[in-house]
Amino acid sequence: MSDTRSTTLLIIGGGPGGYVAAIRAGQLGVPVTLVEGLHPGGTCLNIGCIPSKALIHAAQEFERAREYAQDSPLGITVQAPAIDIARTVAWKDGIVRRLTGGVQALLKKSGVQLVRGWARVLDGKTVEVDTGEGPVRIQCEHLLLAAGSEPMPLPSMPFGDKVISSTEALSPASIPRRLVVVGAGYIGLELGTVYRKLGAQVTVVEAQDRILPTYDAELTKPVAGALERMGIELCLGRKVMGLNAAGDAVRVQDATGAETALPADQVLLAIGRRPRTQGWGLENLQLDRAGNALRIDDQCRTSMRNVWAIGDIAGEPMLAHRAMAQGEMVAELVAGQRRRFAPAAIPAVCFTDPEIVTAGLAPSQAQQAGLDCTSAIFPFAANGRAMTLESTDGFVRVVARRDNHLIVGWQAVGRGVSELAAAFGQSLEMSARLEDVAGTIHAHPTLGEAVQEAALRALGQALHI
Ligand code: FAD
Ligand code: NAD
Repeated sequence: MSDTRSTTLLIIGGGPGGYVAAIRAGQLGVPVTLVEGLHPGGTCLNIGCIPSKALIHAAQEFERAREYAQDSPLGITVQAPAIDIARTVAWKDGIVRRLTGGVQALLKKSGVQLVRGWARVLDGKTVEVDTGEGPVRIQCEHLLLAAGSEPMPLPSMPFGDKVISSTEALSPASIPRRLVVVGAGYIGLELGTVYRKLGAQVTVVEAQDRILPTYDAELTKPVAGALERMGIELCLGRKVMGLNAAGDAVRVQDATGAETALPADQVLLAIGRRPRTQGWGLENLQLDRAGNALRIDDQCRTSMRNVWAIGDIAGEPMLAHRAMAQGEMVAELVAGQRRRFAPAAIPAVCFTDPEIVTAGLAPSQAQQAGLDCTSAIFPFAANGRAMTLESTDGFVRVVARRDNHLIVGWQAVGRGVSELAAAFGQSLEMSARLEDVAGTIHAHPTLGEAVQEAALRALGQALHI
């Protein structure tokens, strides 16, 4: 006999979407059960955002030490820096443990029932969980699907042995001598940069003719230049044909059909992620799809009544903060509140070196949307704080309507610009105009002054350029 329980809200998946929904539902007094097959925190905390940013920081510090060991204009000297990768990984794992432990404590505090095990959907109101101590059947009024995504495989080069995904790349036992990265998107460039800074020879193969093809070329140019200076080889516009017979090189083909072999001790496959919709009974519900993802409306409802979907399983943009915001909203809707998911912008950050941050529309997107816009750039080369941080590469760009100066987009590229995401998001959410940002006193000396100066420049009133 299986154990049968019931709840109001049943959430499958304890990633940023699912655990945030569970906490908020618990806070609002909704009986809630969260089922997680692996570890609370999901991809983001365990094998995604947090561990990748930890390794990016470690690699950056190691690179800095190596620069000091050569010739530092700052007058710092360091002798023969070395890195103990096992210790670096243990440090990263410690951060992951602290955060995932924190999530479990927060769930408990909110009265969430956490069930550890893999869920199988039986129907829109019933799920069976394999807990390892016998099956548990859970019945619910509302079913929230938050099962996330998984790395996209490449049929010509399956995962296994030396072909790894970001998950394995985040826990290296050692650094390979030669790493070939397939995909010059978020993961390929963030982790490719880490491995290069840790000493690997890195070649990045990309099908499109430029890196980070979803961003505009002006924004990615400083990143492409930095990759080149770092010694990362870029093979753009190439098709991956698979490993060679000896298994020690990746065969790639250019547009003319000419084939070359890129020697590789390890291959990081990072060609995107796909929603996790197979293998756990979801097919039984026959929910409407949008490509590989579940189709949802502006309240995250699927095509079945009281079945909701949030986060990566509901498609792009596959970002943790979008999943969290959707999770919060669904919990509030289930609790009876009136909500709609209509953010003015979902900021995105690519943690390359330099970093890229975007919120709202780029100039080309504004044009495509039929808006008559003006845009202005303020370069970090004219920002005092950037000089003191030795990071004058990059700029802040603002896009605003020509008629009423309403800001519709912000972009920046440069070291540390990820922290500008908050200012960008707030300005768009609060419908700021160029005059609002230009007229706000920004602390000196900060990188944020470039935000104010970009707005001033769009008004033809820049002071420091
Ligand atoms: P997930 O976090 O994937 O969580 C889903 C959970 O569901 C998992 O824990 C899984 O075990 C569980 N699950 C699945 N099926 C079942 C089942 N049948 N039964 C029980 N449990 C199940 N995003 C950012 O915003 N910023 C970043 O810097 C960033 N960096 C990233 C770096 C890497 C290397 C990767 C891979 C991703 C990164 N992302 C980043 C993306 C981010 O991790 C995802 O967008 C986010 O985790 C999606 O949250 P989610 O709740 O939808 O799903
Ligand atoms: P991505 O979509 O960012 O990049 C994939 C790249 O691979 C693209 O440039 C694409 O043109 C290229 N590509 C696709 N097929 C190819 C092929 N056969 N050969 C060569 N190149 C090919 O995907 P990703 O880097 O795997 O990351 C997955 C998702 O995870 C991202 O879309 C993002 O949502 C999330 N993520 C976010 C962050 C962040 O927010 N900082 C970091 C990492 C991951």
